[in-house]
Parts: sequence; C-alpha cells; structure tokens
Amino acid sequence: MQLADMKWPDVAALDKNTPVIIPVAALEQHGLHMPVFTDSLLTNELIRRIELEAGSRVLITPLMWFGNSHHHMEFPGTLSAEPRLYIDLLNNLLENLIAHGFKRLIIFNGHGGNDTPGKQSVFETRQKHRDRRDLLLLFVTYWNLGAEPWTIDTTINQQVMGHACEWETSMVLRIRPELVGDLSKVRDVPFGNPFEPASRGWIMTDRSEPGHVGDPRTASPEKGETLFASFTAAALGLINRACAWNGQSWDG
Ligand SMILES: [Zn+2]
Repeated sequence: MQLADMKWPDVAALDKNTPVIIPVAALEQHGLHMPVFTDSLLTNELIRRIELEAGSRVLITPLMWFGNSHHHMEFPGTLSAEPRLYIDLLNNLLENLIAHGFKRLIIFNGHGGNDTPGKQSVFETRQKHRDRRDLLLLFVTYWNLGAEPWTIDTTINQQVMGHACEWETSMVLRIRPELVGDLSKVRDVPFGNPFEPASRGWIMTDRSEPGHVGDPRTASPEKGETLFASFTAAALGLINRACAWNGQSWDG
C-alpha cells in the first residue's frame, strides 16, 4: 500500500501493527557515467518489486530523496542535508508515524551516506520512547541484508557496494539504460583499504577523482536483474520477520 494514494480514513482504519516502510536515498554525483538520481531510482525500483510481493501487508511512504551526501559536495549537482539536520528529518518522520499509532517502522535505505545518521535516528527515537515495549524501530541499507548476488551469477566481481560501481551501473542499465554514459571511457577506481578495521572519515575526493569507486566497465543489465532480484528477496525476508514479530520481545 502506498500512503500517498490513501485517504485519511483509510489510514485510520489500518491495523497499526502493519509495518511501515520508509524509503530513503539521495541525489548526489555518481561519477562521469551515471545520473545524480541513481540511488533514488534504484531504491524506488526495489520498493516497486517489494510491493508486488508484500502487497497490503506493508504501508510504504514516498521515497525521501534528500539524503546526507555532504561527502560528495565537491561535485556539482549534489544536494545534501548536513548530518544533524538529516537525523532530525528522520526523527521527525518517525515521530509523525508514531503519533498516528504505527509501531513497526522500517527505514529502508539506498545510499551509503545515510547509514550512520539513519542508525543514529532509530537509536535516538528509541531513547525518546523509553516507556514503550511495542515499538520496532529498524534501519536497514538494502545491500547489507545478507544477499550474495555473486554466488548466483559468478561473473559478478564485486562483493561489497562501491559507488557508481559494477553493481549500481548494472542496475541502472537494467531500468534506465539511456541514462548511462559511455562505459568504455570509464576506468577502474580500486576500493583501497581505508585503515580498516578502523572507520575513517572521508570525502569522495580523497578516494576518486572521477567520482566513482569500483569498475563499472563490467556492468550489464543481466547482472542488474540478478542484483535487483537478490536484494528484493533479502528485503522481503526482513519484512516477513517484522510482520511476524510478536510485538514485545527483543528477538525477531
Ligand atoms: Zn549510489
């Protein structure tokens, strides 16, 4: 169910244990060969596929494209909410849904820069509602749900998300090929080792002059379909767990 299509009495009549999916993404540079709306296009496609399967078992809010992309601001076209503002925007959205009685809220993310502030948002919101035992506040980034697409198609080289990389370029080739530039002019930008296992603060120009990380030259629409299918299946697994949660316990 899409919240945007509903009338308020329809929302009032919903079972408030219905999981609410809140898609979030970004509008930021994606290298020389990919559109700035890449993360939002891909997240919307995943949500479309999730809704085909989950139907009326979930309520879906419109995608919030305004993300936390300050680490890409050196590149023209990037639009970004700075981290504290972004946390507050997410907190406010969660508070709105809690005010309307919903208890199972899943922020469904499609942009790496939203990961840290998104987790902070569900953490802060939980502290604010300390007296509640019936709130399920989840944040998830779609490529971190346990899918292993490289085991389904062994020609997929990457095993972690890059940026405007083999994975993202393949998925845009699958749904909007006319938006992808000439891949023969793109080069490999290695992932490198940013002092792992430490977590290093970085901006994109530390890592990549053209703006992407990974090797987009190996992308294909066939790989894109495999990636979409495996990420969708993993997301449905999480949604099934959120539906099946008993409403009180820690385990799920
Ligand atoms: Zn991206």
